[in-house]
Amino acid sequence: MAANSAESPFQIVVLSGPSGSGKTTIVERLIREAPVRLVKSVSATTRSPRVGETPGESYYFLSQEEFQTRLANDEFLETAEVYSGLWYGTLKSEVDRARLLGGWSFLEIDVQGALRVMDLYPEAITIFVKPPSMEVCEQRLRARKTDSDAIIQQRLAKVQHELSFADRYRHQVVNDTLDHAIQEILGILDSYR
Ligand code: 5GP
Repeated sequence: MAANSAESPFQIVVLSGPSGSGKTTIVERLIREAPVRLVKSVSATTRSPRVGETPGESYYFLSQEEFQTRLANDEFLETAEVYSGLWYGTLKSEVDRARLLGGWSFLEIDVQGALRVMDLYPEAITIFVKPPSMEVCEQRLRARKTDSDAIIQQRLAKVQHELSFADRYRHQVVNDTLDHAIQEILGILDSYR
């Protein structure tokens, strides 16, 4: 549905959830079905593109040097070393882009980045998506078939850590079934219009 900026003042929406929480599918559907226009922030990252990812759409894939230069130029709202040696960050220009388009800026970022955004924008709508269980989480990670076993183990360890921050978010949603999680988040977004 198209946003009516007169009725829906600008908001920043932050969605986090551990790997395997089912976040990616949720994000795609929210963008299609939300009662306001959600403009997904395209993050910068120093990791390599995965098969099927498009530079400038999935991420801005930057070298370590480019990332550091942009950081030094104060171009980032937040950055985090999400995995050892791999940096991710939200460019301030991405939030401006959403504002200019008359939509809400939609950030799908990790817990460290979200805590930083909460400090900068205490009014941000923050949503944490939880997997129904660790078993389901592991199954989902394996089903993606994009990551090696070592990476999956690394990601599972991070899941446990991230879950301990869930209560810092304004809203927590369990992704037991996709439709249920989507409906709950749509209801949350609707309540801020
Ligand atoms: P992936 O490499 O699987 O695409 O993403 C890994 C993690 O990085 C996800 O948990 C995602 O939320 C996080 N992430 C993606 N973009 C950003 C960002 O701009 N900032 C922060 N802090 N985390 C991000």
